[in-house]
Amino acid sequence: MRLETLAIHAGGEPDAETGALSPPIHLATTFRHGPAAERVAGYEYQREGDPTNDRLRAAIAALEGAATALTFASGMAAMSALLESLPPGARVLIPSDCYTGLRMLASGFLPDRGVRVDSVDMSDLGAVRSACDGVALIWAETPSNPLLQVTDIRALAELAHAHGALLACDNTFATPVLQQPLALGADVVMHSTTKYFGGHSDVLGGALAFRDAGDLHARVARRLHVTGANLAPFSAWLTLRGCRSLPARMALHCSNARRIAVFLDDQPEIARVNYPGLPSHPGHATATAQMRDFGGMLSIHLRGGREAALAMTGALKVFSNATSLGGCESLVEHRASVEGAEPTSSQDLLRISVGLEHIDDLLEDLAGGLRAT
Ligand code: PLP
Repeated sequence: MRLETLAIHAGGEPDAETGALSPPIHLATTFRHGPAAERVAGYEYQREGDPTNDRLRAAIAALEGAATALTFASGMAAMSALLESLPPGARVLIPSDCYTGLRMLASGFLPDRGVRVDSVDMSDLGAVRSACDGVALIWAETPSNPLLQVTDIRALAELAHAHGALLACDNTFATPVLQQPLALGADVVMHSTTKYFGGHSDVLGGALAFRDAGDLHARVARRLHVTGANLAPFSAWLTLRGCRSLPARMALHCSNARRIAVFLDDQPEIARVNYPGLPSHPGHATATAQMRDFGGMLSIHLRGGREAALAMTGALKVFSNATSLGGCESLVEHRASVEGAEPTSSQDLLRISVGLEHIDDLLEDLAGGLRAT
């Protein structure tokens, strides 16, 4: 089956009891078992698994071409469960441009567990190669947040495996509609399903999709069950509903973002547009080879620096000033302002999540924003 069909049907078997096409939400925390705790219908206690999450896991595994998947209360819960399942002494490589949460986990929490983390520019394979000695896991994020850097997943997988390491890939920006890291050699894919999977800015969640249902999956699943980082059944149901329209939404996110990137690239107030779909983007060739389209995220650098960036965000009317991404509505964010006391993003940078509004309304709004700079 093709991805568009899988997105609509995977994990969507009609309810056996009623024939309902929309799956039931099972809120039960406990399930009847036999006198010696024999499982009657496969479930015992919600923290160890529930039918609604199982449907979502089946759908995510199908879309990523994975053997199996796990779902979590947030993207960060998924990321932590994987990284914290590494043994003390393990060394991890993360990208120098990545989601702030990963950076905070790497500097503030993983070292306490004896996991050493180094960051490297993953768009530069030579730099990764020279940082690979003794590495247990390489973490890729492509396209990256917020600079939209592109990493060659196939080359990175070869490098990781040659060093006996695993490759994990945060596929939140691309989604499996645009990029399937497991098919390119990655071992685990991570998602903040809060973003495009949920798709409506109303449900937090995370997922890991595994190439094999082996030891790593078993370790992380055990960690999830014991530490209780579960996704609530209602959130699983909303996220599963999001899967159904994911390919259709991604098509419009991509076409709107491409038009906006081309428009902004031509404006004198803009110093640079980071969008892998632009031929001038340094990762364009790699993105073309490993992605079906270039996604709905971009970032821009304003010639007028922080002042111009804030003037622009303040003047936008259709784009909301808000964090997060992947919803129907367009969002803009001055990343440095939300990154706390020591921001890593430059002051001239705005990150844009392109939504599903009419493209002309979005372009007119951006033109108005630029006039205010
Ligand atoms: N990965 C990326 C690329 C993200 O953008 C985010 C959140 O913005 C996360 C992971 C963390 O996900 P969550 O907010 O669902 O914990």
